[in-house]
Amino acid sequence: MFPPFTLRYARLPERFYERFDPVPVRDPQLIAFNRPLAESLGFDLAAFDAEEAAVWFSGNVVPHGSEPLAQAYAGHQFGGFVPRLGDGRAVLLGEVTDREGRLRDIQLKGAGCTPFSRGGDGRSPLGPVLREYLVSEAMHAMGVPTTRALAAVTTGERVIRGIPEPGAILARVASSHIRVGTFQYFAARGDREGVRELAEHVIERHYPELEDRQGGGRYLGLLKAVQARQASLIARWMGIGFIHGVMNTDNTSISGETIDFGPCAFMEQYDPQMVFSSIDEGGRYAYSNQPWIAQWNLARLAETLLPLIDDDSERAVELATEELQRFPEQYEAEWLAVMRAKLGLGSEEPEDKTLIEALLATMHRGRADFTLTFRHLAEAADNPQAEASLVALFERPEEIAGWLEEWRERLDREPQPQGERTRRMKLASPAFIPRNHRVQQALTAAMDEGDLGPFEALLDVVTQPYDDQPGRDEYARPAAPTERVFRTFC
Ligand code: AMP
Ligand code: MG
Ligand code: MG
Repeated sequence: MFPPFTLRYARLPERFYERFDPVPVRDPQLIAFNRPLAESLGFDLAAFDAEEAAVWFSGNVVPHGSEPLAQAYAGHQFGGFVPRLGDGRAVLLGEVTDREGRLRDIQLKGAGCTPFSRGGDGRSPLGPVLREYLVSEAMHAMGVPTTRALAAVTTGERVIRGIPEPGAILARVASSHIRVGTFQYFAARGDREGVRELAEHVIERHYPELEDRQGGGRYLGLLKAVQARQASLIARWMGIGFIHGVMNTDNTSISGETIDFGPCAFMEQYDPQMVFSSIDEGGRYAYSNQPWIAQWNLARLAETLLPLIDDDSERAVELATEELQRFPEQYEAEWLAVMRAKLGLGSEEPEDKTLIEALLATMHRGRADFTLTFRHLAEAADNPQAEASLVALFERPEEIAGWLEEWRERLDREPQPQGERTRRMKLASPAFIPRNHRVQQALTAAMDEGDLGPFEALLDVVTQPYDDQPGRDEYARPAAPTERVFRTFC
């Protein structure tokens, strides 16, 4: 069933990982399978059998050609450095080459205690596995770079998270699982050669355009390239109201994909200070902090690369700092592009930023739903009659009415013909996101009753986020006060 494995990471020096076979589970059952993704990865599905698939995706049998391993990494968790984290419950089977010729990691998350498990049990409860499945596939459907969900299995075993919960394993696909924390792992040991070999692996795998650069410029180029992808990624998160929740350096992917869907959440009522994660007591990873946390994480990456950037350490710091200081400008350009598309602006005017900020401030004061505001704005673009349902989202209708007049004046200066706007704007503003209360309902049904119906229905809705889906308005609706989710857990 599996396509052939390429063992690129397994061929890196042995100190990059610990060899580790998944720990078999009692009774693996396949509960979700991403057939289109499997096909794009070159899986042979002609004789697909769910029972057999459960055996593979639980890790009970290691597929031919795989050399399973747990990757070593370090990381800053909420600002504090931990020199040795590593895959405490995930196992990399290896990489496969997809239909487009790109390398893709296949990892089993929840595969048992590894040499990096510290106090953990190496397992995952079903709830977080389903959350990651739903949210990562929704992110992908919205065009946001992300790890993907290939399959989920229940293990037939219980894991204790305060109370006993059903255990599960997620088969996850990523362009790689290399993190800022992977660089930090070697840098913290003074292993300059380790950092260099990792950088070379990353350049070959993710940034081949740097291949012919020589000397320190090669590694400064790497910092620059990772920074560009992070600036773009965070701007996309901000454009859909996504709050990652644990932007530690070990959860910051070098490839620029969203990784680790622990206590993540989507905002409903717009509030830039919004935090959902139960472990983020100081609000470090609040919605509006995300760009600046990304910059902070990039500075941690830069530190690891300094010895490669220039032998003269002062000069290296100067060069890296210069690069890092460009982040705010790069991020703003990415963010403006995202937001202009949401406002239907194909041209650029200097006052656009003020217009966007005025809308956000009005949404904040009016406690408007983030997703619905932009979707209704799209609908109103070609049809002023549709403004009523937009205005109804705001607690202070007069404020948004005033803003709408300014927006219409700005739209009048757009070269793009009227009649085309709604269609285009809808491609920048989803109708359907995995709303927290819906995700919670799907998880609860699966955990408490073994009912996967709500999970499957929600997955179907959120993987067509930009389509109008008649008869599914319930999924677009924000939580009623009694349904609201205030805290998320990982
Ligand atoms: P996270 O907060 O999910 O980014 O995880 C941080 C670190 O804790 C990583 O090194 C994980 O591998 C490890 N970890 C998380 N959950 C477990 C678990 N149940 N058992 C062992 N290690 C874990
Ligand atoms: Mg993590
Ligand atoms: Mg996690």
